[in-house]
Amino acid sequence: MRLSRIRLHWVEVPLHEPFRISSGEIRVRCSILVELLANGTSGWGEAAPMPGPVYSVETPESTWEFLRKKLLPGFLDRPELDPTRCFGRLEEFPGEPFAKAAVEGAVWDLRAQQESKPLWALLGGSGQALPSGAAIGLMPTPEDLLDRVARFLAEGYRRIKIKIAPGHDVELVAAVRSRFGGIPLMVDANAAYRLEDLPVFRELDQHGLMMVEQPLAREALEEHAELQRALRTPLCLDESADSLEAVERILRLHSARIINIKVQRLGGLEPARRVHDVLRKARIPCWLGTMPELGIASAQGLHLGTLPNFAFPTDVEASARWYLGDIITPPIEVPRDGLIRLADGPGMGYRVDPEKVARYRLRVEEFVP
Ligand code: MG
Repeated sequence: MRLSRIRLHWVEVPLHEPFRISSGEIRVRCSILVELLANGTSGWGEAAPMPGPVYSVETPESTWEFLRKKLLPGFLDRPELDPTRCFGRLEEFPGEPFAKAAVEGAVWDLRAQQESKPLWALLGGSGQALPSGAAIGLMPTPEDLLDRVARFLAEGYRRIKIKIAPGHDVELVAAVRSRFGGIPLMVDANAAYRLEDLPVFRELDQHGLMMVEQPLAREALEEHAELQRALRTPLCLDESADSLEAVERILRLHSARIINIKVQRLGGLEPARRVHDVLRKARIPCWLGTMPELGIASAQGLHLGTLPNFAFPTDVEASARWYLGDIITPPIEVPRDGLIRLADGPGMGYRVDPEKVARYRLRVEEFVP
């Protein structure tokens, strides 16, 4: 297989509503798509960093510049189209996991299409349907939150995750519990608390939550271990689990009992699969988180999410949950039973729709060997 060219697309898809977490909010999903063309086939990958310093040091601008100036010219010099080896080649360039995940995802997609196999088969997954959970950002009032919970439960979502922040935590959980009883419920703090907030977590501990996600700072692994020892509720680490080395450290310190695997943050499907394998060996279950991404990275994540150690509902939701449109056909759908069934077909099954890419595209650039 010979790489004939690479196209880089900058797309912006408006959201139905702002996505709010404890550190900021976004109103459009800006994604950078990598299209690798070889032997008449396009393999697609997606980088989905958040704009501004909301979540990570990587932004759409920095990812775009890194791809066009460094990663793609370097990759074109010596392309590695074996997806299990591509990550090693990309690691020759320091940092920038979002950009690498886009290139690596495109290489996996290309290979799966070339072999006429679904992506999950190449990754070692089962291809089974995945339970989907709805994530609800910080809402203006508790009533708004309860309305959302009611809506998502009616739509079929298999668990509810609510974002919390200091001063907006225990009473929200108590309100959801008193209205909806023992539904599968979890909270995500996005690192907004400190160990001194232990009394808050002791109260949350009374509410039978599935897990508390990333209560403390990213680097606070000892503190997470201490907090975990004080609670019955499992802690789940997300922001902290940003590399295989970090995950190994989390395991050594017993900082958490669950890990949120984000393909973007880990730099691709292969590094994410390695983290999955290490966790499986350590008997620490994981689940698939999101940025949230558009259809390409979401679909590829869903394929990975059928590996055996993914044990909780995924954060991947229906395309229509966030976006006024998506760039794949069919869109990702969550039916009334809350189980996402992967689209059939080689590669990711879903087809990237060139008309939709063109509709939402702000910039495009082409690279030829
Ligand atoms: Mg999270």
